[in-house]
Amino acid sequence: MLSRYLEGEIGPEQCAEMDRHVAGCARCKAECDSLRRVLALCKSEAREGTVPPDVQKAVQRILLSLQGSNPT
Ligand SMILES: [Zn+2]
Repeated sequence: MLSRYLEGEIGPEQCAEMDRHVAGCARCKAECDSLRRVLALCKSEAREGTVPPDVQKAVQRILLSLQGSNPT
């Protein structure tokens, strides 16, 4: 489910969706504190509807590592 966020831009809307997923997905919740931390950054760093590129990269890096070890 989260793999679709690996392509394209990650904006505040995408971060909110991932945030909801992580909150409702036992596996993500248990295994991905780092994802939740970076999603919190998405919220606090978003400006005018966009998330800074370094934050987007951080999200995608975490998604990649999640996907590699633990497909969701
Ligand atoms: Zn999940």
